[in-house]
Amino acid sequence: MPYNTEALNAYLDQHRDRFLDEFGQFIGQISVAADGRGVPEMAELVAERFRQLGADVTVYPTPGSPVIYAEMGPQDAARTLMIYNHYDVQPEDPLELWETPPFEMVIRDGVIYGRGTSDDKGELLSRIQAVEAWRETQGELPVHIKWVVEGEEEIGSVHLEEWVDEHAAMLAADGLLWEGGGYDEVGRPMFGLGGKGLAFFELHCQGADHDLHSSVAPIVVNPAWRLVWALSTLKDHDDNITLDGYLEHQRALTDEEWARIDAVQLEFDAMRKRWGLDGWLKDLDDPAARRRYISEPTITICGIHSGYGGPGSKTVLPAEASAKLDFRLVDGLTSQLAHDLLRQHLDRRGFTDITITQLGGEEFAASPPGSLVERAAIAASQESWGKEPNMYPWLPGSGPIHQLSTRLNIPAIFAGTTWHPNARIHSPNENIHVKDYFESMRFTASFLAHFASLKA
Ligand SMILES: [Zn+2]
Repeated sequence: MPYNTEALNAYLDQHRDRFLDEFGQFIGQISVAADGRGVPEMAELVAERFRQLGADVTVYPTPGSPVIYAEMGPQDAARTLMIYNHYDVQPEDPLELWETPPFEMVIRDGVIYGRGTSDDKGELLSRIQAVEAWRETQGELPVHIKWVVEGEEEIGSVHLEEWVDEHAAMLAADGLLWEGGGYDEVGRPMFGLGGKGLAFFELHCQGADHDLHSSVAPIVVNPAWRLVWALSTLKDHDDNITLDGYLEHQRALTDEEWARIDAVQLEFDAMRKRWGLDGWLKDLDDPAARRRYISEPTITICGIHSGYGGPGSKTVLPAEASAKLDFRLVDGLTSQLAHDLLRQHLDRRGFTDITITQLGGEEFAASPPGSLVERAAIAASQESWGKEPNMYPWLPGSGPIHQLSTRLNIPAIFAGTTWHPNARIHSPNENIHVKDYFESMRFTASFLAHFASLKA
């Protein structure tokens, strides 16, 4: 669908300072879902920004963070696009590693710093500003938009599923523009049709009711040892997963899926260099690493804690030990199944004393190729940058895509265009490039035009 790109670009230039000021307000408003700081205020800020667009906005309370739902564009448009973003951010610690205050937007050398610049406030607000720019320069929107902005993405979207179930009737759409994606190591847009599932567990082992002098070790159970023994049964020393039944449940991939995985372009040298590594796990060559990276489920020890870890020595026999684990799940493995397999596996080996608390779960989800949203994203990528995106059949990361895409049967595309490989999401000094912030608006406008006009 032709639209006036000159007028659009002129509008973006003209309103550049205000758009950045608004971004500064979004970054300046703390919104940490993990402890709830600033969440209601941020929800109101987002709702107010939607109201300024003339959108029909509802703030839905949940037992946690509110869900903001905004509709805009003609009700009788031929197509309806759902957009998903989130307004919560990860905690800012470790604070001392930030070069500038986390909740203050700072622009230095063409880079915008601050918690949430990349994940996910930059995407959210640049898309909102793109809608404004479209309206001011082109007239009515070419599609009807249903926008879901949640505030608990960073803690596993704990109340989103319930909200979706309650409101499923109003959530029908022809396609779903998701958050995430971005640019790869060489600046190609990197999109995906879904993401791996995720199950997060805390394992806990209790010994005596308080820490003891370590001289009693010959006669008192040590929960740190028990936890280590239990964990060591989940993988062999060559990094093969040995959790009973886990690998057997993954669905065998088709030749067509393997071909799409093999076609994903990864800049292996740049990745190794960025991470300070000489090679991949198991001495994998690059093509094998790509297959393993995208196709396999994982079991990751994210942290272990027990006893004394401070400076010097302390001869103590700890009373308790705990570990946090995440499992990235592929098709065939659900978070409930992962939990059940883990429980059975530990019980079978005599670790019935180790408790498992499930702290979150997302299900694997991937839309089939060829959907309208995928084709619109490819066309918008060609229009914006003159190149095809680097398309993942599903991304190695996770999100609540199952709740909206699979449950509501809406094909989805991860086609955010602000993230870059050094964006440091979840880390100190999170950032995006100023250029990409405005490119995101141009891409969004182009995406809307193509989504409205592509043949079904
Ligand atoms: Zn995140």
